Amino acid sequence: MNHSFDTRCIHGGEKNAENSFRAISTPIYQSASFAHIKTGHNESGFDYSRESNPTRSQLENMVSSLEGAFDSIAFSSGMAAVAACFEHFRPGDRILCSDDLYGGVVRLNTRVLEKNGITIDYSDTRDLSEAAKLLTPQTKAIYIETPSNPMMHVTDIRKAAHLAHEHGALLIVDNTFLSPYFQNPIALGADVVIHSGTKFLAGHNDTVCGFLCSADKELAGEFRLTSKTTGAVLGPFDSWLVLRGIKTLAVRMERQQKSAVRIAEWLKTQPCVRKVYYVGLPDSPGYDVNRAQARGAGSMISFSVDSGTTAERLLGKVKLITFAESLGGVESLITYPIAQTHTDVPPETRRRLGITECLLRLSVGLESPEDLIADLAQGLE
Ligand SMILES: *Cc1c(COP(=O)(O)O)cnc(C)c1O
Repeated sequence: MNHSFDTRCIHGGEKNAENSFRAISTPIYQSASFAHIKTGHNESGFDYSRESNPTRSQLENMVSSLEGAFDSIAFSSGMAAVAACFEHFRPGDRILCSDDLYGGVVRLNTRVLEKNGITIDYSDTRDLSEAAKLLTPQTKAIYIETPSNPMMHVTDIRKAAHLAHEHGALLIVDNTFLSPYFQNPIALGADVVIHSGTKFLAGHNDTVCGFLCSADKELAGEFRLTSKTTGAVLGPFDSWLVLRGIKTLAVRMERQQKSAVRIAEWLKTQPCVRKVYYVGLPDSPGYDVNRAQARGAGSMISFSVDSGTTAERLLGKVKLITFAESLGGVESLITYPIAQTHTDVPPETRRRLGITECLLRLSVGLESPEDLIADLAQGLE
């Protein structure tokens, strides 16, 4: 489809489901199964909702349209999408991962992949020449987040794709932080894109979901077989909620980013704030690479304060901003990575990355930026 991104957020993927009453909103096909009229003839194209469901298909077509993917599968969580992707690998394979990653993926690596005979190598993928030294003939994929959670490391997607392909490996990109509105990794060479749709795509802190998007037919076929077999797919009502969320993705991303720039600049002027990690600040180390591959910097800000006591005081005092896990929704949330999202990252890795008791992560929502700044100001007093 050649419509602009904003238009596709509203109309993308709309042709899929039958809609006999011409409802404007996508119907919710709350049905486990679909009737067959005679043997060998399946009129609707749908059999059983573990395999496919019309409401979910509509959402999947929408996400494929936004990501420029050959196919996308909607899962019941971001982690279910990652786990289904990792079913691609066999005992003896290795995966090279960015060292700064969502803590749940690190836990999946240590608790599930290693048990299944898959070895994970970690590297700071901001420097791909260092990462290249860890590649072996057994390395079947490079897995990155850019910007990463929570340290906002930016990896060059084009170069990572080139490096992976030179070694016959896949490039898998978790695109949760920027969403397809700001970044399309497949157009830059990635083979697979993963989303925690719970975050910006759904956007309202009300639905847990995930996406596994593939660049080509072969991977898509394999992932479809996995999702049908292991079954952690998204239900019809949740699919509808995410479709509804996506309608406002473009306006939310723009406004949240605008507020994030203001808040990041304000945080930099605060005496008890030691460092602000936001890729939209021109003096941020990842600024140039991010600009060359993304259309924006998003609305995730990490920052470190002068002590753990200051961090805990702020978490206890915020009123408008909620001290909670998750991100990307209309409500601003502040997270304490060391105690919440990144508890399963080994302590020495956390120390090296800077995930200390002084680090906080802020997801800027749609409230007025003045009110958010006033809340942070009273919390830091
Ligand atoms: C939240 C998150 C995940 C996991 O997604 P869930 O929907 O919580 O299962 C994966 N990657 C990133 C970057 C995340 O922020």
